[in-house]
Amino acid sequence: MPVKRPISSISTEAAETLEIASEGLTSLRRSNRSKRAKVVSYAEEEENEIVDRVEKSEEVVSKRVETSSSKRQLESGTAASESTKTNGKRKSKSAKGDVDEIDHETLRRERVSSKWKVGAHVSAAGGVENSIINAAKIGGSSFALFLKSQRKWESPPFKDTNVTLFKERLKLLGYEPGDVLPHGSYLINLGNPESEKREKSYQCFLDDLKRCDQLGLELYNFHPGSTTGLVPASESIRYIAECINRAHKDTEGSRVVVVLENMAGAGNVIGSSFSELGEIIGLVEDKERVGVCLDTCHLFAAGYDIRTKEGWDKTMDSFDSEIGLKYLRGLHLNDSQTGLGSKRDRHENLGLGHLTLQAFYHILRDPRTQGIPMVLETPCYENSKGLEDSWEIWRKEVEVLNRLSRIDGDLSLPGVSGGTDEDKDGEKGEAEAEILETLTADIKAIVDRAKGSVKEKGKTKTGNKVKGRKKKGVVDDDDSEE
Ligand SMILES: [Zn+2]
Ligand SMILES: [Zn+2]
Repeated sequence: MPVKRPISSISTEAAETLEIASEGLTSLRRSNRSKRAKVVSYAEEEENEIVDRVEKSEEVVSKRVETSSSKRQLESGTAASESTKTNGKRKSKSAKGDVDEIDHETLRRERVSSKWKVGAHVSAAGGVENSIINAAKIGGSSFALFLKSQRKWESPPFKDTNVTLFKERLKLLGYEPGDVLPHGSYLINLGNPESEKREKSYQCFLDDLKRCDQLGLELYNFHPGSTTGLVPASESIRYIAECINRAHKDTEGSRVVVVLENMAGAGNVIGSSFSELGEIIGLVEDKERVGVCLDTCHLFAAGYDIRTKEGWDKTMDSFDSEIGLKYLRGLHLNDSQTGLGSKRDRHENLGLGHLTLQAFYHILRDPRTQGIPMVLETPCYENSKGLEDSWEIWRKEVEVLNRLSRIDGDLSLPGVSGGTDEDKDGEKGEAEAEILETLTADIKAIVDRAKGSVKEKGKTKTGNKVKGRKKKGVVDDDDSEE
């Protein structure tokens, strides 16, 4: 029964499945047009299954976070009255009940105040308003969420209570609307050359934008789209820009900025290069309402080497010349399981992939990345021990990122020699390297613990299943996987 699920990896997988499906579609189209429809529906079914699993895992994680956080409050004794109230009175799924049981003050106070707004893509299970509590519980200064069910083209509208509670909690927990970077549905493909399908995507996209507006949010992040292999990139780019222009008109008076995400570059996906993103923006009429979100894993997979400070600066320079720095509205902070230019979208926990903490060290000290949401989409494991072993990963990663942005001013760390004015550059570099190593080990310990407790369970699984999952390059998934 207890399982672990790398939520972000599943999302990643969903996107990739879509790409692979569209690649397969292209070759089939050439050889046998009649089989096409079958492949599409199969791909869509598979995609739905993956998204379904993400949702299911979101629910479980969300429940565990609630339980575990109240446990922590009890242990720390920081919120005695709140804890007493929480103890034995837990309503796991009641959004209304939660608002009274949450210690807003403690959650606010515990959060690090920084110019770099670090957080994670958190669960919105049980109502969008719950995402805010989940974000605060891991100490995030920013966060991302899905606005509706990811497996369906249409979802019921928000209830008034969702909207009221969302706005209320945002204020209570000290977030600005600009700290939130909602993520659009993976089903949306505004670059689809088949007009009927593009229209379906457009309606889903427009609905997302209206939801942002309802919640008083200002940003909306989405994947630009794919040619599905049927047309040249330039044609899909035109469709994407047309849809954005139309959406701007259909939401006149709204301030929501559509934020294009850079992609890893697999298959026929648009937006892995700055030039493509720049081309889309070039065709958008209302430049005030368009922006870009850079995913560090996607950057690296697309061939932008951001491991060194020089590489990061060079990347930001070309971003500035091909797109324009003023369009940078958000970041997704993910390490990469695969190498430079791999074109594979495989997120890894910070420091444990090819980027290493060194890359995040540059990013977290760059003034160009201040003040925008910087959101983790790294693997998060759910297992028998619940949050203490799983959700803690994001809490730790947020803590490490905040620490990285402060290393300059404070080199002291237990067991590491402190930095003083007399420090020579070399010594300082050494001390920094030592700190990065220590912080990486901190993250690894928590990730290993989360994985470890599932590994014990894994022994009861069949060897075949475990093998199959490893092959896919995604950390072990749950038993419901085909
Ligand atoms: Zn994304
Ligand atoms: Zn990704």
